Amino acid sequence: MPNKAFQLGDIVQMKKAHPCGTNAWKVIRMGMDIRIKCTGCEHSVLLPRKRFEQKLKKVLVSAQEEI
Ligand SMILES: [Zn+2]
Repeated sequence: MPNKAFQLGDIVQMKKAHPCGTNAWKVIRMGMDIRIKCTGCEHSVLLPRKRFEQKLKKVLVSAQEEI
């Protein structure tokens, strides 16, 4: 599995855009499940970590870019 580092607060791009047309999601909860929120329409979805990692395309904006 490719190492895609992500963390709370990151803006991520998924393999499929949300039906609203936006493909930028904010990670708002981390744990066994990951909750992401569409930055376009505020819709949020809960995904098991494994599903999330499969659907994740890339991290657009890291919450800790300054490191
Ligand atoms: Zn949306």
